Amino acid sequence: MAKTGPITCSFCNRDKKDVKILIAGISGHICDTCIGQAYKMINEEGTATSKQQVQQALNLLKPNAIKKYLDEYVIGQDEAKKVLSVAVYNHFKRVAHSSNDKSTIAGTDKSALIGTDKSALAGTDREEIEIEKSNVILVGETGTGKTLLARTIAKLLNVPFCIADATVLTEAGYVGEDVESILTRLLQAADYDVAAAERGIVFIDELDKIARKSDNPSITRDVSGEGVQQALLKLLEGSGVNVPPQGGRKHPDAKMIQINTKNILFLCGGAFDGIEKKIASRLNTQAVGYSATVSDKEIDRTNLLQYISPQDLKAFGLIPELIGRLPVLTYLQPLDKEALRRILSEPKNALIKQYEHLFKMEGIKLEFENEALDLIVEKALQFKLGARGLRGICEAIMLDLMYELPSSEKPPKSFLITYDYASDKLKNAKLSHLQAA
Ligand code: ADP
Repeated sequence: MAKTGPITCSFCNRDKKDVKILIAGISGHICDTCIGQAYKMINEEGTATSKQQVQQALNLLKPNAIKKYLDEYVIGQDEAKKVLSVAVYNHFKRVAHSSNDKSTIAGTDKSALIGTDKSALAGTDREEIEIEKSNVILVGETGTGKTLLARTIAKLLNVPFCIADATVLTEAGYVGEDVESILTRLLQAADYDVAAAERGIVFIDELDKIARKSDNPSITRDVSGEGVQQALLKLLEGSGVNVPPQGGRKHPDAKMIQINTKNILFLCGGAFDGIEKKIASRLNTQAVGYSATVSDKEIDRTNLLQYISPQDLKAFGLIPELIGRLPVLTYLQPLDKEALRRILSEPKNALIKQYEHLFKMEGIKLEFENEALDLIVEKALQFKLGARGLRGICEAIMLDLMYELPSSEKPPKSFLITYDYASDKLKNAKLSHLQAA
C-alpha cells in the first residue's frame, strides 16, 4: 500500500511546508538545507584530499624520483632536469607550508607559545619564513626539450597544464591578447575547476621575444616588450587575478573569475638567441677582475650557456623585476648527433616506437635499419631544428607506406626501412618547411 501522510525530508525530517525546496528521489526526499550541508561536506572533503595529495606528493616525489621520471621521456639535459626537480619539489613543500597556515621554522612549536606575551613573540615572528615561489626560466635553442620538460612535469604531477606564447601578448589596451588570457587557458585545461587551476603549471614560451630592445629603460612605450613584462609581473607574483572565462580581450561587462596565482608554478622558456655574447663579455670582464670566480682557462667556450646568470638576462632585455620573479634559472644543451639518435628510439614514447605501434595495429612488424636512423639524424642536424625536425623527416619517409599499406590486398607481415628506402623517399619529399627560420 502506498505511504500516505505528510511529505518530509528523509534527512532532517522537516515538513514540506517548512522548507524552500524538497526534491523527490526514488524512495525519499531531500530539502534545500540538507543539500547545502552535503555540498559543504563534499567541499571540505575536497580540501582535505588536496592537502593529503600535496603531502603524498612530497613523500613520493623526492627530487631524484622526479628526475628519474623525466629521464624516461627526455634525453640528456641533466642539469635542467636536476634544477627542475628541485624547483618542483620545493614548490610542493611551499604549497604544503602555506596550507598549514603560517608555520614557524622547524623546532619552534607554536602551541608552546600560547600565553606568552606579544613582545616575547615578536622575535619568533621575525623568524617566520616565507618560502619564495620557485618559478623557473629555461634557456636553450629551439627543439631541445624545454616544452617537453614542462609538459612531462605536469603529467607526473597530474595537474592542469597550459602553454602560452609570449609573442601574442600585448599590454592591456593594445591589439593582441591580454596576459590574463594565459590563465583563461589554464582554467580551460582544468575544466573550469578554479581550485585545480590554482595548483596548475603554466609554460610561457618565447619569453625572449618580449625582451626590451635595448638595455636602457625605455622612455617611449614599448607595447610588445617591456609593457608585457610589466603586465606579466602581476601573474608571477602570486596575487588574485580577474580572468575572463572565455578569453580574448577583457570587456567591462564580462563576468570575471578570480584566480589566485600564489600556487601556480610558472615555467618560462626561450632561445635567447645571441645571449652567449652577453655571457662571454661578462665572463671576460670577470676573468680580468680581482674577484674572478671562473678563471679564463677553465671557461668552456664551446658551451657558454652553462655560465648563464640573471645579469645576462638583464643585458638581453628582461626587466630586473621579472628576473626576480623567476628565481630559478637553468639551461638546455644543444642536441648533438648522439642525443638525436637516442631521442629517436629511447624515450617512452619515442618516434620510432610510435611508428612501430601504428604498424602493429595493422598487423605489420615495422623495423628500421640503423643506417636509416643515422640518416634521419643527419638530416635533422642539417635543418638545425633540434629534435623538432625529426618528426617531419620521419613523416616524409613513412608517408607513402602509411598511405598504401592499410588498403593493400596482401599486406606484408613485416617491413624493414632500409637506408636506401629512406634516402629515396627523402629525395622526393618537400622538406623546405623544415628549414630553420
Ligand atoms: P623547445 O625546446 O623548442 O620547447 P620541444 O620541447 O617542443 O622544444 O621539443 C620538440 C620535440 O622534440 C618534442 O616534442 C620532443 O619530441 C622532441 N625533443 C626535444 N628535445 C628532446 C629531448 N631532450 N629528449 C627527447 N625528446 C626531445
